[in-house]
Amino acid sequence: MIPGLLLVISGPSGVGKGTICARLKTMDPTIHLSISMTTRPPREGEEEGREYFFVSEARFQELLKQGELLEWARVYDFYYGTPKKPVMEMRAAGRDVILEIDVQGGLQVKANCPDSILVFVLPPSFDELASRLQSRGTEGAEAIATRLRWAREELRSFRRYDYAVVNDTLEEAVRKVNAIRVAEKCRPSFHGLAWLDSLEE
Ligand code: 5GP
Repeated sequence: MIPGLLLVISGPSGVGKGTICARLKTMDPTIHLSISMTTRPPREGEEEGREYFFVSEARFQELLKQGELLEWARVYDFYYGTPKKPVMEMRAAGRDVILEIDVQGGLQVKANCPDSILVFVLPPSFDELASRLQSRGTEGAEAIATRLRWAREELRSFRRYDYAVVNDTLEEAVRKVNAIRVAEKCRPSFHGLAWLDSLEE
């Protein structure tokens, strides 16, 4: 069985990562979108086990100590982390796994799983990002200012990623990320086929 691809999608808050991931899942329902743990309280409309697993700080620290997280980071005032087991199981079953996580986490994933692919989603401009965050209406002025400060920091790291995709029009961005996913699975290193290996002996 060829393992699934581990794809990390990062980018500043408001850039459209979530929408891109949801579209990819619609295009290929076998894709597994990882569900993170967070100590952040749920926002209105968020459900336990759908957007996140909402946990206390004590529980988060416990999972971390037990080695249950593939990566983790403190973002804004909260902890976020990726449960390791489902990622490993889905990949082993041949399903592609997408992690929508921040840059600190993305770089940890690359260090832990060197065959993972990191995609950074860029806004067309910083002003466009600011106006998208404002029109989203999910955060107050102070939270938006914090997110924009973080965005500046995150954008500095985009060259450390394998790919960068500008989310100018959504359809185009989805097409590009999907093209990356498909092309990465056509690398010779990805094809651990026994009959091909036997030819080399
Ligand atoms: P939000 O609170 O708006 O849902 O997410 C805030 C930030 O945390 C986003 O940039 C998101 O990508 C990041 N994030 C969500 N889950 C994880 C995770 O499991 N690990 C890391 N490192 N970042 C995460």
